[in-house]
Amino acid sequence: MNQITPTPKAVATLRKGRHRLQSRDYSDQRRTTARAKQGTTQMTAPTTPAADAAPSNFIRNIIDEDRRLGKWGGRVETRFPPEPNGYLHYGHAKSICLNFGLAQIYGGACHLRFDDTNPTKEDQEYVDAIIEAVQWLGFDWGEHLYFASDYFDKMYAMAEHLITVGKAYVDSLSAEEMRAYRGTLSAPGKDSPYRNRSVTENLELFQRMKAGEFPDGTHILRAKIDMASPNINLRDPAIYRIRHATHHRSGDRWCVYPMYTFAHPIEDALEDITHSICTLEFEDQRPFYDWLLDNLAEGGFFPRPVPRQIEFARLNLTYVVLSKRKLIQLVDENHVAGWDDPRLPTLVGARRRGFTAEGFRLFAERIGVSKADSWIDMSVLEDCMREHLNESAERRVAVLDPLKLVITNYPAGQSERCHAPNHPLHTELGKREMPFGRELWIEREDFMETPVKGYHRLYPGNMARLRYGYVVKCTGCEKDADGNITAVLCEYLPDSKSGTPGADNYKVKGNLHWVSVEHAYAAEVRLYDRLFAHAYPGNRREGDPEDLERDFISDINPDSLRVITAQLEPALRAAKPEARFQFERHGYFVADRVDSVEGAPVFNRTVTLRDAWKK
Ligand code: ATP
Ligand code: MG
Repeated sequence: MNQITPTPKAVATLRKGRHRLQSRDYSDQRRTTARAKQGTTQMTAPTTPAADAAPSNFIRNIIDEDRRLGKWGGRVETRFPPEPNGYLHYGHAKSICLNFGLAQIYGGACHLRFDDTNPTKEDQEYVDAIIEAVQWLGFDWGEHLYFASDYFDKMYAMAEHLITVGKAYVDSLSAEEMRAYRGTLSAPGKDSPYRNRSVTENLELFQRMKAGEFPDGTHILRAKIDMASPNINLRDPAIYRIRHATHHRSGDRWCVYPMYTFAHPIEDALEDITHSICTLEFEDQRPFYDWLLDNLAEGGFFPRPVPRQIEFARLNLTYVVLSKRKLIQLVDENHVAGWDDPRLPTLVGARRRGFTAEGFRLFAERIGVSKADSWIDMSVLEDCMREHLNESAERRVAVLDPLKLVITNYPAGQSERCHAPNHPLHTELGKREMPFGRELWIEREDFMETPVKGYHRLYPGNMARLRYGYVVKCTGCEKDADGNITAVLCEYLPDSKSGTPGADNYKVKGNLHWVSVEHAYAAEVRLYDRLFAHAYPGNRREGDPEDLERDFISDINPDSLRVITAQLEPALRAAKPEARFQFERHGYFVADRVDSVEGAPVFNRTVTLRDAWKK
């Protein structure tokens, strides 16, 4: 890594050799950028075809205006900056689609940057999982993979610079005293007695902090701004602290670490980010973001214009929790089976559940971005998944609650083939064979000994079609000693086979799916449902003034998982891990990527065909 020197020339050298990612008008963009960096006046950067097609939003309006003014030479460079302290969740997917999407629209680059400045909570396991998740969502950062920890030397140099110009000092108050000195929203803070230490003393103390001479918490480096500022974030925020801890990448090299609010703007500026997009809770931090980069640009560390922070409303989704802290609790307390439990709103969980990257991208586009906090209903996400799966998933037959159907006039030992289309919307995907025989599995709910009004399926005396097969007439049923129905009896009409000239001879209303008993594949199927039974886990129930906030754990849906043995059509035996299907009449299912073995896949229900939660 190059050592940073506080001259614009050095900064320019540092950046040389970095390229834009996947830009359609790659060369134009580079030229424009180069001109901007030389400080010449700028014209508007070229628009790409994608820019015209994608829906607009307030962030795009800001970017369009910046480009119109020639800021950064029209260049657009964004980043997705996760802290590797947990697995990514659905909320991160929104941010990923937004940042990478903007880079695509404007022919710019989006960086994947690990914001790994907090040694105690971070781990390589999370780094690997995050990389896999972003790739799975279909995005590519090219060579723009960065780690904030690689900038520790530069950050340290910048902190020293702030001390040198009288804009930072070492404070030695205890954490408790610092809190008391900070003031409140309505009362200004007070200057620390250490605020006026000399530059020399500050430099020396900061170096001794770095050298490991002091225990954690004894000293802290603070920016020197204004203890009376109405914005508490400007009351001399902490920028460096002592932490004797091993970092997952830099090991024991450092015992002082930059605070997030100091590190993040610097990371953006070092990487030439133009638009630094973050969630709304950072809005109050923007003045410090600007203060810091302005002072460092003044010191020659960065060229102007420096990156610009833009805030948008985070994703809030009903029936799940999207906070790492709560997700960790769900995993640690074994409410779910692990980070990739299909009920958990993590991206590894989503993948295992059978959600698709296309579905997430559609969702991100559909919900858009806004400046106001709101809740999105889970059904919006599920509908996006249904939409993509309806289009892409082949159809198969599965009997989830099997009851035997015996065709008494069909010869024992005989079987024949029926043909079922793989996809009703895509005839080019052809048909598959389904063996038919004397004994079939049907759904238990497709027979009623005494039918209710409007019931069109099997009951004694009624006819129904066995889909892709024959019309059958129900003649009765068999029961065990306790009166439970053990088999349904029927006779088939030999001239009614689907696809043959006589198929239309009989008009029947019921249309049932079935699987041959002799050929069926009995498989484990996991019926996943929403993890929480309440739309706002842990929050007040809407419209109920008596109901106070409570533990979100108490809102867990006790029926979020049911494991059954289902009878599947034989073709499903060959399903590869992650193959997705629509099980007709039931919903979308995926062959589990963890527990399936060759020739014996296990299936997870992704989502039902219709929203069963609609009120
Ligand atoms: P959490 O609040 O769940 O702990 P985080 O914000 O601490 O998440 P980071 O790893 O810091 O997690 O987040 C990386 C990026 O993802 C940030 O830019 C953050 O703004 C964004 N992000 C996190 N949660 C959401 C969300 N619910 N909706 C949109 N973006 C989000
Ligand atoms: Mg965070």
